[in-house]
Amino acid sequence: MHYRQLGQTDMQVSCLSYGASPLGSVFRSVNEDAGIRTVHVALDLGVNFIDVSPYYGLTKAETVLGKALQGVPRTRYFLATKVGRYGPNMGDFDFSAARVTRSVDESLARLGVSYVDIIQCHDIEFADLHQIIHETIPALRKVVQAGKARYVGITGLPLKVFSDVIEKTAIDTILSYCRYSLNDTALERLLPLLEARHVGIISASPLSMGLLADREPPAWHPATPDIRAACGKAAAFCRGNGKDIAKIALQFALANPRIATTLVGTANPENITNNCKWADEPLDQQLLADVQKILAPILNQTWPSGRPENNESAITA
Ligand code: NAD
Repeated sequence: MHYRQLGQTDMQVSCLSYGASPLGSVFRSVNEDAGIRTVHVALDLGVNFIDVSPYYGLTKAETVLGKALQGVPRTRYFLATKVGRYGPNMGDFDFSAARVTRSVDESLARLGVSYVDIIQCHDIEFADLHQIIHETIPALRKVVQAGKARYVGITGLPLKVFSDVIEKTAIDTILSYCRYSLNDTALERLLPLLEARHVGIISASPLSMGLLADREPPAWHPATPDIRAACGKAAAFCRGNGKDIAKIALQFALANPRIATTLVGTANPENITNNCKWADEPLDQQLLADVQKILAPILNQTWPSGRPENNESAITA
């Protein structure tokens, strides 16, 4: 496992990190014991950064993760959770200072820890960015002053929201998802700005939330039929050549040294074992070129998320 500096924080994070959303049965119903074992295997294999949110499984992921972390020395892992998103619909977001401040205390209780390393505003494209900048982030800075978190970050799908916020206020980290994987590398275009502002870069979903795996993606997956079909074709090509698309997808995402860490989600100990093993193996350049050719027609195609004004065509292809 390689470790990389996360922006200007004091954290050296494993290049492969653990996304705990599957612990909330977000992708499919999971066995709690297997989920807990997955967390332990990840830590044993060198993963030192874990991401979760109260939204995942509507608090279930935080609760199961809290059980997994019981008895694990707090110095063994960095932990990030989120505020502001509490359900799938527009009405389920609340980025008010009062709600996010209370949310941190609720998360700490579920996780069984006295602080998190990063507290993030979850999917800010659903929010009024003026509120994020002038109300939510200042409230989270007070949470940091109270010793309940160490750094403040933002997360989302459209890349525009990151530049919009970073241009106006200081942010420690961003978490971008589905924008640096085999089928979408648009995050690359934002890297110069993030680096200039010394923002820590966390990328999530190297398997494009299940598009780049042998199993069918979940029914809720927002990708268009074109994206799904191209990823399915690439997976079939790999299978036909005795290869696993998940491996090349994971290795591709981890290979960019400008991205400090890449969060992969699974509640399966075997998957996390493979993912950690693959992180240390060389990437098959010929297979990569073949797969990239199949995915070229849909490269950087994404889907809308959140408020229309927070989506753009300026940064995406
Ligand atoms: P992912 O790309 O990591 O894909 C997860 C899917 O891939 C699951 O179905 C899992 O079972 C499967 N998988 C994992 N390893 C595999 C392997 N070796 N072989 C075959 N299948 C495998 O997507 P994700 O879980 O959505 O993203 C990772 C994490 O990033 C999340 O858990 C979450 O913590 C974070 N995230 C955050 C946001 C946000 O803040 N808005 C959005 C997306 C993801």
